[in-house]
Amino acid sequence: MIAQSPSGNEADWSRAVKALREAAEVCLACHVRPDADALGSMLAVAHALRARDGAPRVIASFGDVPFEVPAILRFLPGVDLLSSPLAYPRTPEVMVTFDVSSPDRLGALEPSAARAGELIVLDHHSSNTGFGTVSLVDTAAAATAQLADELVRRLGIAPSPAIAVNLYAGLVTDTGSFRYPPTTAHVHAMAGRLIEQGVDPAAVAHELWDRAPFGYLGMLSAALRRAVLEPAAAGGRGLVWTTVTRRDRAACELPLEVTEPVIDVVRRTDEAEVAVVLKESDDGQWQVSARSKGTMDVGRACVALGGGGHQRAAGFTGTGTAAETISALRRQLDRQAAEPR
Ligand code: MN
Repeated sequence: MIAQSPSGNEADWSRAVKALREAAEVCLACHVRPDADALGSMLAVAHALRARDGAPRVIASFGDVPFEVPAILRFLPGVDLLSSPLAYPRTPEVMVTFDVSSPDRLGALEPSAARAGELIVLDHHSSNTGFGTVSLVDTAAAATAQLADELVRRLGIAPSPAIAVNLYAGLVTDTGSFRYPPTTAHVHAMAGRLIEQGVDPAAVAHELWDRAPFGYLGMLSAALRRAVLEPAAAGGRGLVWTTVTRRDRAACELPLEVTEPVIDVVRRTDEAEVAVVLKESDDGQWQVSARSKGTMDVGRACVALGGGGHQRAAGFTGTGTAAETISALRRQLDRQAAEPR
């Protein structure tokens, strides 16, 4: 099936497929602190490349040092194929990036991308900077998984359950369980096909959303108690925000990734168009998650602060205090709200 909104053009797709068919070694990379779309898309293509006759050597990684696969994603088939960015080729012949909007999102793998002979970029961020020698970017796609699905098809690989589970995980995550735009008929059709190819949706949902260590409840409780509602912010549309500190996590030795679902509770707030969670990483920086209900573009606000994302879901890293970090974002939102419409 051709992607609903053709991404790149035929020449780009042909060049990508040819490069991947002819390479003796293919290096795959997704963005740092990967989510299910980034990692699942990459693993799906890794499986597809390895399934070919005369398969190339496939190296798959992401640029986090220390290198650790988020616990919540360890159920994805093929995580055992991943290798450390420290062992990544310095000058890849052919490199493919997944869900990476700009080279700095590659972390420790950014220098390898800069030296790659062919750099194929699969992405759906509107903030994509257009890097790479082959840009397969579709900003209308719900997930990079849709582009990875198209690539697997064009490589002529029969879909396996391992490929399907990885693509489904990306699709279901980036659409917020098929709730957010662009959850199109095409998205559901792709999900239906992946289920036919072996995905158990209940099992994937359980892994992604229905489990957490007991300590998560205490951490969530601490974060929610601190939530602040600012009705006048974002030009009067309202802002709700909170923090999850290192101390909240330390009590139960929770990793940063456990803070990820907190935004899904905070964003329910009826009185706020924009919801924000500031998550303090182990090195004291603030990983900021921002969500909008559709009338504000948090992607644009976060890009202005050095981050990236989409209109309704985006993020950036704050290096100051929590108050300074939320102030910087509040200013961006107020500025945007004041623009003539
Ligand atoms: Mn994505």
